Amino acid sequence: MTTTDTLAKARIAVLGYGSQGRAHALNLRDSGLDVVVGLRKGGPSWERAHAEGFHVAEPADAVRDADLIAVLTPDMVQPSLYREAIEPNIKPGAALLFAHGFNVHFKQIQPRHDIDVVLVAPKGPGALVRREYEIGRGVPCLFAVYQDSSGHAEAKAKAYADGIGGGRAMLIETDFKEETETDLFGEQAVLCGGASELVIKGFETLVEAGYKPEIAYYEVMHELKLIVDLFYEGGLKRMLEFVSETAQYGDYVSGPRVIDDSTKQRMKAVLTDIQDGTFARNWIAEHQAGLPNYQRLKQADLDHPIEQVGSKLRARMPWLNAGQAAPAAPLKKVG
Ligand code: NAD
Ligand code: MG
Repeated sequence: MTTTDTLAKARIAVLGYGSQGRAHALNLRDSGLDVVVGLRKGGPSWERAHAEGFHVAEPADAVRDADLIAVLTPDMVQPSLYREAIEPNIKPGAALLFAHGFNVHFKQIQPRHDIDVVLVAPKGPGALVRREYEIGRGVPCLFAVYQDSSGHAEAKAKAYADGIGGGRAMLIETDFKEETETDLFGEQAVLCGGASELVIKGFETLVEAGYKPEIAYYEVMHELKLIVDLFYEGGLKRMLEFVSETAQYGDYVSGPRVIDDSTKQRMKAVLTDIQDGTFARNWIAEHQAGLPNYQRLKQADLDHPIEQVGSKLRARMPWLNAGQAAPAAPLKKVG
C-alpha cells in the first residue's frame, strides 16, 4: 500500500487556485486522487481552474462533501473563509490542511475540535512544485499535526504530501510554531527583507560615491543571481570554488564588517517580534486598516533609482525576456 492510499477514497477540496493551489490540485489529480477546487464565483481563478478540467464550486459547497480541505488562499483571507465557508460545513473527522501555520499558530483560526488539523508546506513556490512533479521528482515538504481527531491525521498529511510529489523528495516533521516562526524569520531577515536592503544599501553606497548607476546595478543586483545559484547548488563551498582568490579574501575580511554581531542582535529582535506575536498583530492591523503603510513602503521600493536603471538595463538583456513572459514564481507572497 502506498501512502497516498490513505486518501484513495477521499474527496479533497483545494480552496484557492494561485501559486500553491493550482500546483497542488494538478499534482493530486495526476496522483489519482479526487479533487474539487473551491473558489468565489467570478473570482480571478475560477475560469482557469475550470478550463484546466476541474470541478469548481463555491468554497462552502466544495467543503461540504470533502474529507480533506486544503486552505490555499492568501493568509489574510483565511480567517473569514474559515468562519463563513469551512466551520459551518466541514464534516466531523475531516481534515483541514494548511501550507503555512500563521493563522492557526497565531489563533486567528481556532479549529473545531472534531476535525484533524495538519500542515504540508512545500519548500518552494507552486510553479516549482508542479514542474518537479511533472518530471517525476518532487519538492521537499515540511509536515505537522496540530490536532488529531480521527487518529489518522499524520497519515493524511503524509498521503497529501506524497500526492503533491513531496514524498519523492523528502518529508521533514515539524510543528505549527516552528514552521510559522522560521518561515517568517527567513523571509524578513534574510530572503526578502535582508537581501533587498543589502542590495539597496550597496547600490546607494556606490552611486553616492560617484559611480555610474548602471555599473552599480550590475555589481550589486544582477550578479547576486550568480552567487545565489552557487549557494543553492553547493553551499558556501561551491561559491568559494567559483570566485577568484581576490574575491574570497575580500569576502573574509569585509563581509563581517558589513554584517556583524550588531546585525545579528537586530535579527534576534526581529525573531523576538515574531515569537511574541508583535509582528502578527501589526500585520493583521495593517491589513484591516486597508494596507496604508504596506502600499507606501511598496511604492518607495518601486520608485527607488535601482528600479529605474534596472528596468532600462533588463530591456537590453534579451535572455531575460523569455523569463519575463512566464508568470512570476515568487518565493513567498505576503498575504
Ligand atoms: P496566491 O495569492 O498565489 O493564490 C491565492 C488564491 O486564492 C487565488 O486563486 C485567489 O483567487 C484565491 N482566493 C482569494 N481569496 C479567496 C476567497 N475568499 N475564497 C476563495 N479563494 C480565494 O496564494 P499562495 O501564494 O499560493 O498562498 C497560499 C498559501 O500557501 C498561503 O497560506 C501561503 O502562506 C502558503 N505558501 C505559499 C508559498 C508560495 O510560494 N507562494 C509557499 C509555501 C506556502
Ligand atoms: Mg525592503
